Amino acid sequence: MPRLFVALELPELLKEAIGEIQAGLRDARWLDEEGLHLTLAFIGEVDHLAQARIEAALSRVEASALAVGLHGVGHFPLRGPPRVLWVGASPARDLGALAASVRSVLARAGYPPERRKFAPHVTIARFHRPPPPLALQDYLGSFALFRTSMVPVASFRLLSSRLLPSGARYTVEADFPLARASSHEA
Ligand code: ATP
Ligand code: MG
Repeated sequence: MPRLFVALELPELLKEAIGEIQAGLRDARWLDEEGLHLTLAFIGEVDHLAQARIEAALSRVEASALAVGLHGVGHFPLRGPPRVLWVGASPARDLGALAASVRSVLARAGYPPERRKFAPHVTIARFHRPPPPLALQDYLGSFALFRTSMVPVASFRLLSSRLLPSGARYTVEADFPLARASSHEA
């Protein structure tokens, strides 16, 4: 059964910016470009019929044009041995609104997503074992001012993930374009 989640497609420029800070911390397994995404809703394992219904439901989300920027680096969990490193994403309000409409459309279709509180972020590394605390502090300190410009986002996507020993591999199942900014169009 496919394991599904909904995520924002990350523009190339943002992936490149992330690439530049993916170094200098031992024990970190850095995610490659294909692994980078901003999760809006996690659905979990469903059958193929459910997937078709979920895709139909998602096509009804009315999402307006959106530009996204990245800033700051942190880890989850916030206390205790870190399992992942992430960069924050903004604008939190617009991303939260998009996540909320995705989640409500899924719920109305009968597939309520996980209710974990939405925290706009992109996971950039996972840890096999926790890094030495001082090395982590060093890393976080050196990229505390990490900040990108705001970049227009083209679409959100339904992704499936296969959990392999080498790390999760994601496949794009369906792509849902966001409305385009219309300032220059007739
Ligand atoms: P792995 O589980 O092997 O570490 P992964 O977390 O990237 O890899 P999935 O567990 O399939 O792969 O999760 C896909 C995406 O959904 C990830 O961005 C993950 O953070 C997010 N996610 C997973 N479970 C939940 C959940 N219960 N609530 C909210 N988001 C979740
Ligand atoms: Mg997971």
